[in-house]
Amino acid sequence: MIALHKSELFQATVSLLYPATCTICGKSLRAGKYLCDLCDMKVPRIVAPFCRRCSEPFEGSITGAFTCANCAHRTIYFDAAVAAYRGRGIVREIIHEFKYARQMHLRHLVARWLRAALDDERVRDVSFDLIVPVPLHPARQRERGFNQATLLAELLSADISLPSKPVLERIRYTTTQTALDRSERMENLHNAFRLRKNANVRGLRVLLIDDVLTTGSTLSECARVLKRAGAISVHAATAARA
Ligand SMILES: [Zn+2]
Ligand SMILES: [Zn+2]
Repeated sequence: MIALHKSELFQATVSLLYPATCTICGKSLRAGKYLCDLCDMKVPRIVAPFCRRCSEPFEGSITGAFTCANCAHRTIYFDAAVAAYRGRGIVREIIHEFKYARQMHLRHLVARWLRAALDDERVRDVSFDLIVPVPLHPARQRERGFNQATLLAELLSADISLPSKPVLERIRYTTTQTALDRSERMENLHNAFRLRKNANVRGLRVLLIDDVLTTGSTLSECARVLKRAGAISVHAATAARA
């Protein structure tokens, strides 16, 4: 009851601040919406079948739960990573504009996509204790001006009435992951994160947040640190999945 009330309040606040027009085509909309129906239809969704661990969609027909080759051949520390959308087309463009072109108002739409990931049956019934955003290295954050994962975690926190705390910190400034293959990424990330001083996650069920899952290496490495610090479970949710 309380959660719903807060969510409605949040919605009302948002619609006061932002005129309701479609983010893509500019068509006017009902308050609280970000995309018109036509543009929304073009947003690529993740549909079954997909890997039960990392949500990698499988092009073909598999019935029942399966694990993709990527997850079968490495140690993954998160219990599952969920996403409702593919990081392609409109989704990719919007997230890119939000992150790199400082189009901050787009965070509301991206947070909507993140919220949709929580309808997934792998996380729907988990009673989470804490939302944790994936940290940026302080130098990277200064350069960008914000941490997109923190902004998304805070919006989600207000929406579902669950505390969000930046308990992790990034201690290694890693070069961009984009050009690296999977094993290089794992190597690049090793010991890149640690628990902040005085942070405590012992006995907690953690919901880890990032904007996009690419290979899952970053989320897995964060989950490893959280579990080593005593978290009971770590599920990850992202607004999109590459
Ligand atoms: Zn539109
Ligand atoms: Zn997988």
